[in-house]
Amino acid sequence: MSQISCIFCRIIHGQAPGEVIYQDEEITAFRDIHPQAPVHILIVPNRHIPAVAALHPDDASLIGRMILVARELAKREGIASTGYRLVINNGPQAGQSIDHLHLHLLGGRTMRWPPG
Ligand code: 5GP
Ligand code: ZN
Repeated sequence: MSQISCIFCRIIHGQAPGEVIYQDEEITAFRDIHPQAPVHILIVPNRHIPAVAALHPDDASLIGRMILVARELAKREGIASTGYRLVINNGPQAGQSIDHLHLHLLGGRTMRWPPG
């Protein structure tokens, strides 16, 4: 299912501009429009799932595959050995601003902890 008003659904279906670097039958990855690191990629399910909070037990393999795709893209982008961070913001206090589940892949610079 896709939502016409959702910017990520539109990117997935080629209806809005986006630098898509990976796509398969259930997952798409594209570069973040406001990168917070030299490598900043968003890995998203093709199906419109609003947030982690909306996942079902049946989505376990999908969410697992999203992490495996992130790992492959980290290798491709040359940040596998230097390290990278995977982030999913869920809900307003975590800073989720787009209501289509997305896994951030960030790398290419040193990062601090804890995040802000
Ligand atoms: P969140 O804050 O929800 O965890 O992350 C949303 C991310 O989506 C942000 O890093 C933001 O820069 C990115 N973003 C928002 N709108 C667009 C867009 O139209 N295209 C792309 N490629 N990224 C977007
Ligand atoms: Zn969507």
